[in-house]
Amino acid sequence: MNPAEEVLAELRALRAADLPTHGARTLAYVYDSGLSGVDELAAEAHALAAHANGLDPTAFPSLLRLENDLVAATAELAGGTADTVGAVTSGGTESCLLAVLAARTGAPDVREPTMVLPETAHAAFHKAAHFFGVRAVSVPVDPVTFRADPAAMTAAMDEHTVLVVASAPSYAHGVLDPIAEIAAAASARGIRMHVDACIGGWVLPHLGVGPFGFDVPGVTSVSVDLHKYAYCPKGVSVLLHANAELRRGHYFASADWPGYTMLNTTVQSTRSGGPLASAWAVVRYIGAERYRRLALDARAAAEEIAAGIDKIGGLRVLGTPDSTLVALALDGTPGFDLFTVADEMSARNWYVQPQFAHGVSPANLHLTLSAANRGHERDFLADLEAAVGAARAAGPVSVDPQVLGFIAALDPAQLTSEQFAGLLAAAGLGDADGLPTRMAEVNTLLAAAPARLRERLLLEFLGQLHE
Ligand SMILES: *Cc1c(COP(=O)(O)O)cnc(C)c1O
Repeated sequence: MNPAEEVLAELRALRAADLPTHGARTLAYVYDSGLSGVDELAAEAHALAAHANGLDPTAFPSLLRLENDLVAATAELAGGTADTVGAVTSGGTESCLLAVLAARTGAPDVREPTMVLPETAHAAFHKAAHFFGVRAVSVPVDPVTFRADPAAMTAAMDEHTVLVVASAPSYAHGVLDPIAEIAAAASARGIRMHVDACIGGWVLPHLGVGPFGFDVPGVTSVSVDLHKYAYCPKGVSVLLHANAELRRGHYFASADWPGYTMLNTTVQSTRSGGPLASAWAVVRYIGAERYRRLALDARAAAEEIAAGIDKIGGLRVLGTPDSTLVALALDGTPGFDLFTVADEMSARNWYVQPQFAHGVSPANLHLTLSAANRGHERDFLADLEAAVGAARAAGPVSVDPQVLGFIAALDPAQLTSEQFAGLLAAAGLGDADGLPTRMAEVNTLLAAAPARLRERLLLEFLGQLHE
């Protein structure tokens, strides 16, 4: 046995190497309300319910109550009606997966089912396509606004379509899709319409942006993550349906074994009460009025930062952000590299998230702003300007054009594991323990790789990390 203090010291030492979750310098993956007391409350609430099992709501009625409360609170923000129902899931991806599963199960007569989504839809839908055998029909978005194109989306709907998807807002650019037009077209064809409000659902109503939910005719399901702008610890999202009939397709029962009849509302069976209880406690503690202020603060930070970016020579904001997310790209050919800017920001203790070019979207850096960024916008902008200066001084990343050409022509289906290992080593990702601190060159090589090759290379890398 090891003394608890030693175990915790070891854990703290491990955690010290991570990106900070608080302090608002990590501008992806994490959300910081800046409020005191939230984490302590969440931790206590988590501990109170961590061993309780949501698998059987009759055995643990407290968890049923907590879940119904969270669904009701979320439905209120998403234009819910008396018929609205939902489920608490482990995260946005699970909510999106279940929306697709419910739609596919709900249309048993449709052979070769498809879902129509804007090319800016979250990758969770491609995961759902992969899991459930629903083909994703990805529709180009407007090249200036990065919003879904309702006419093109409508043209893509046919007798195979079991679900249409739009985002409120999209993760990559933070813009709201024209939900009403798309939902009307889906509804006219009897097709379900999912609004992915995973990242916006807890913010947009407070900003007066929308409607995006069930108050838009034709919307049949909505996903909202509580572990984003509800500032709850990770592991909680809500999937809402316009009525119970629409939800049935992701419920699952099996009496086909000698144990208990397994009844599940989500992907999980045993479900910890911990995340649920901590989310419930945080939502009650922060309360509607303070959530409104947090949303306004995050929005103000995003607006100030977006305006500041446009004033930095060589940079521009993609589209017009509607919420709290900003994507910044190069303006023209300014003679520096965006990936170097990301490295220079890391050197200044900021994490900004590189996004590779896709469809009409050029390579860019993603920023998720939260309430704690309010009041510190100038710190960020000053460091960004300095990072651009340093990137300019360094000049564009130089990678042998022959190497880039070689990578662009590779077919992942033809490569062996040894060849992948060789490629990773050549890209600087060969040693999982000694990752380069400057990623610009690696990112330049990855950017040159076709999407399928990049997926495969990074999966090989992931596998290597887990050896
Ligand atoms: C975060 C996000 C998701 C996926 O959520 P996870 O919690 O990361 O699984 C889906 N859609 C959008 C728009 C998101 O921002």
